[in-house]
Amino acid sequence: MSTVNPAVTLDQEINPWEAQSARFEFAARKLNLDPGLWKVLSSPAREIIVHFPVSMDDGRIEMFTGFRVQHSIARGPAKGGIRFSPDVNLDEVRALASWMTWKCAVVNIPFGGAKGGVICDPTTMSKGELERMTRRYTSEIIDFIGPEKDVPAPDVNTNEQTMAWIMDTYSMHMGHTVTSVVTGKPLNIGGSRGRLEATGRGVEVVCGESLRYLNMPIEGCRVVIQGFGNVGSNAARLMMEQGYKIVGISEKDGGLSNPNGIDIHQLIAYKQRNGTTLGFNGAEATPSEELIVSDCDILIPAATENVITSRNADKIKARIVVEGANGPTTAVADEILAEKRIFVVPDILANAGGVTASYFEWVQDRQGYFWKEAIVNDQLETILRDSFEDVVRYSEAHNVNNRIAAYMLAIDRVAFTIKQRGIYA
Ligand code: GLU
Repeated sequence: MSTVNPAVTLDQEINPWEAQSARFEFAARKLNLDPGLWKVLSSPAREIIVHFPVSMDDGRIEMFTGFRVQHSIARGPAKGGIRFSPDVNLDEVRALASWMTWKCAVVNIPFGGAKGGVICDPTTMSKGELERMTRRYTSEIIDFIGPEKDVPAPDVNTNEQTMAWIMDTYSMHMGHTVTSVVTGKPLNIGGSRGRLEATGRGVEVVCGESLRYLNMPIEGCRVVIQGFGNVGSNAARLMMEQGYKIVGISEKDGGLSNPNGIDIHQLIAYKQRNGTTLGFNGAEATPSEELIVSDCDILIPAATENVITSRNADKIKARIVVEGANGPTTAVADEILAEKRIFVVPDILANAGGVTASYFEWVQDRQGYFWKEAIVNDQLETILRDSFEDVVRYSEAHNVNNRIAAYMLAIDRVAFTIKQRGIYA
């Protein structure tokens, strides 16, 4: 049985919603999911589209389009990031929202799934323009977010500052400070220790678990990372500190390689100074497409969707692929990687460290009691290790790959909750 419809075109292959649906349907079939619950879970619960004006620095008024999609609130408040990017679209946000539902269920934290996005090019906007856009977008969706309703977080091109603006806008409307409306905030206004590097730390934990499972040593393990943003740079740093050799880093504007290992502390400092990894003299400039298919033990796509597709999957030489990004592998590519017996740790497990630490942040905000960093890291590692174990055992028991196992585990948990709660009518 195949995940993919053989007539699939390239456009369909790289449509994230199609990618999500192909895996959902395959896993639901394997689970023998009740047809009613199948219908409930195969579409988002709520899709909000807003068009809103922002005053630009030169006095012009510009219109922006934003989305917030809530896929499910069955297991708790909807949860998921907000991204700012020129190619944000409804199908992408839909897919990302449902991936959040599955991700929260895989790591068994009490949230549903959501995602938001604004179509914009943040690289061409001033800080003031970004702030005004963020605040107006927040006010447009304000009735639908809240600590018990839907809790946004950072994603592509958004950060602690963006979350501070959202928290402030929401709080001004409520008339009091509501820190738990968003996660990924700065530390002094209700952020959590360990949240910033949590996604990278989770990637490091599941890499370690994968090596243990496959009986491979960390020492000398060669790693290529695509993307050097929050996830890629933190995973690279933590993994280098553990003894991995980071032999390749690829970014949109070009890649770097060094067979003896790149000094990640130096590279992070270089990028902070220059705004790019290009020109770093501790490695050789290498095209990004080459790095993805280069000889290594672990490949970590840690940027955006559709990096491993039918066009390059058969050339991948890594033994293990760990998905730091959401949706980096298409459903067609999944099958090629499976034929090549590549061990894939799927996004809904591999990058779940971020939302797990977000859960800790939300709990701390609601308690008004803040944990030490060691506690956050320790709890995060325990949850990810246990979830990794759950997924590989599920995959062995049902004779499916890790991605389908993770979907099955997640769908089963969400479906069970809906059944217990019943359908309100
Ligand atoms: N944007 C991150 C993700 O895709 C974090 C979401 C969150 O913390 O709510 O998992």
